[in-house]
Amino acid sequence: MGYVRFLLSIAALSVLSACSGTHSLSVGTGLNNSSTVASHTVAGGVQSKETPLATARPVAKITTGSPADKLIALTFDDGPRPYVLFGSKTAHPAQGLVDILDQNGVKATFFVVGWRLTPKTWGEPRHEEDIGVSCLDAAERLIQRGHELEDHTYSHLELRSAEKKNGEQWVMHDVDRGAQAIKAVTGTQPRYVRPPDWILTDDARRDLQKQGYRVLTISSENPMALRDVNSLDYLCAGKAVGCPKPSLPDAVLQQIGQREKKGTYTHILAFHELSTTAAIMPRLISDLKARGYRFVTLTEYMKLVEPKPGETMKQQAAVTKPVKF
Ligand SMILES: [Zn+2]
Repeated sequence: MGYVRFLLSIAALSVLSACSGTHSLSVGTGLNNSSTVASHTVAGGVQSKETPLATARPVAKITTGSPADKLIALTFDDGPRPYVLFGSKTAHPAQGLVDILDQNGVKATFFVVGWRLTPKTWGEPRHEEDIGVSCLDAAERLIQRGHELEDHTYSHLELRSAEKKNGEQWVMHDVDRGAQAIKAVTGTQPRYVRPPDWILTDDARRDLQKQGYRVLTISSENPMALRDVNSLDYLCAGKAVGCPKPSLPDAVLQQIGQREKKGTYTHILAFHELSTTAAIMPRLISDLKARGYRFVTLTEYMKLVEPKPGETMKQQAAVTKPVKF
């Protein structure tokens, strides 16, 4: 019964916008180029083509990985947000996410928003604390400390609506512009794109893949190991309306437990750069390590999990011998 209730609650929550938790925090943009930059819009009225996790149609059973290679790719969207990464200096100082990751020996992947990587940008002034570090400096520090930057578009607009309004070329350009902003920091072209709220038309998805991008998804058409785990962490920000019960780390561990029951021991966890998310990381990381998980960047994850040319997920799983604990 508890499990059923959990599934129902996840199903209800999954139809909400993944980035909506930041909407209440980030209505204004405070940007130089506001015409092309998204203030977050609540996408509650937009139905994603992606199937919510709990209502996902079953696909052919694919066993991926085994307890011998339990992997987590931790990912954080919507930054860089310097006060989350390096710690708030307000009346309630909080440890920065980057120090937390360092202390736990974890390298993560940050899906950053391109407009933030323009010079002298400190985030959204009405909603984000200025700690004297620009978003661009924050991005450079992330790279210096061994983390990975990937593409969450330039504008952070919801791409299906943007395509309807501006055409598919606009969408392609927005992703490319985000990639260029990252390349200017890292020197390398990002390969992975996570569209805001995972919303993208099939045509745009196909064309981005043709251009060499790998588009992250929650679609049940993909093998479970290549499907993002939606942490629902945005529901714990601000007034924490709808934050999973009994707690965010427990809810994430529960989702992982359900995937393990289906034979999947590798997981891409989708979080956001939020103070509330940073605060739960020490416990979540230590619980996952206690369960035998190893943390890798998304590039390493894909190297280990994604099928090689000519190989299927099933074949890859077949060569991995389960280990008894
Ligand atoms: Zn986002």
